[in-house]
Amino acid sequence: MKAEIIAVGTELLLGQVVNTNATFLSEELAGLGIDVYYQSVVGDNPTRLEELLEYADKRSDLIVLCGGLGPTKDDLTKQVTAAHVGQELVQDEVGYQQLMNYFETRQRPMTENNLLQTLVFKDGRALQNTAGLAVGIFYTSAQGKHYLLLPGPPSELKPMFYHQAMPILKKYVQTNEQLISRVMRFYGIGESQLVTDLEDIIAQQTNPTVAPYAKPNEVTLRLTVKTNDEAQGIRQLDLLESRIQERVGAYFYGYGEENTLPQVVVELLREKQKTLTAAESLTGGGFQATLCDTAGVTDVFLGGFVTYSATTKANFLQIDPELLEKYGTVSAECVEAMATQARAMVDTDLAIALSGVAGPKELEGQPVGTTWIALATKDNVISHCYHFPRDRNYIRKSAVMAAFDLIRKELLK
Ligand code: ATP
Repeated sequence: MKAEIIAVGTELLLGQVVNTNATFLSEELAGLGIDVYYQSVVGDNPTRLEELLEYADKRSDLIVLCGGLGPTKDDLTKQVTAAHVGQELVQDEVGYQQLMNYFETRQRPMTENNLLQTLVFKDGRALQNTAGLAVGIFYTSAQGKHYLLLPGPPSELKPMFYHQAMPILKKYVQTNEQLISRVMRFYGIGESQLVTDLEDIIAQQTNPTVAPYAKPNEVTLRLTVKTNDEAQGIRQLDLLESRIQERVGAYFYGYGEENTLPQVVVELLREKQKTLTAAESLTGGGFQATLCDTAGVTDVFLGGFVTYSATTKANFLQIDPELLEKYGTVSAECVEAMATQARAMVDTDLAIALSGVAGPKELEGQPVGTTWIALATKDNVISHCYHFPRDRNYIRKSAVMAAFDLIRKELLK
């Protein structure tokens, strides 16, 4: 089955809303063994939506539309698609009752336009909305084309897709084939180097396939196998992964789309029952803020310092001003003193300290991008110098990630 996704909404074209529905739907359809060949976005414009439907009819078996099922004038997806396939719109009884109950419970008058949300195709199937009021539709035309209409808000679209659309689609999928994916995450190696190191592996692969993605400060590899035997598919991915690990395993830090380096570090800290503090200069609290984005951090992070100037470094962390004067604040001596002092003052197992030149001007004769990071443990302190490229924001973010990587390596020792 060849599918395409049409996201409807002017807000998407204006860049005000990110088209996350397309990502979600593509991934879920791939999981069902349905190939998505096209994704498009169209504004709330009936003529252009109709044009797109005509194209879609010629090239796809399943046309998934999302958005524009609401009560307002610009919500036209149902009306345009109904006219396109020659279907009459009728009231869905279940949806109508739900709408009535909604307004009754809230004791608010219902405006007439709300009824538009409960319209469905006369010969289609109504897909009930457990998180909103707009009823979805599944319809198969006489020509055998399938149309799936889903609401725009992801909180409504996802449950409707999982609970109502998926069971219907499964019946139409001829094959038992499914796609199994594994995402490998790497830090400390650029995309071009990774691809060069794996050139022959990437070139040879047809099933499974290997796709690299460069993200800020890291690279991911998505390994995907198409199979009708799940266990066999997983073995194929294991084999491919072991070939990749042999070459670039030194940079590998975790699996999954969501499993970021900070999350991996927090998990490791929890697992090893270690506590952490931080003393930050150029990152201005960015390391600690990123750390605190991660659930479970309470068990491992006690608090820390933001010491942006030499004076606060000396005052808050009780560092000898003469040391700062002698070596400068962008130096091994400075970050090592920051880390050692922070660790002792907060009484943690580990402390990280960051200082550097975020720009736009050089500092203490050091070029923009120069960054020192130190890691103190109870009986040791180490420091590294980095030279990050690009602008202020990128340098600060790179420093935060490098700090997490340093901690991760220490925890794996
Ligand atoms: P509503 O009843 O809320 O009007 P609807 O089906 O008419 O639902 P839209 O009006 O098109 O949907 O979109 C409502 C909201 O849903 C948008 O403002 C946006 O926040 C979100 N949304 C719509 N389309 C997408 C999309 N493709 N990806 C992510 N979010 C989306």
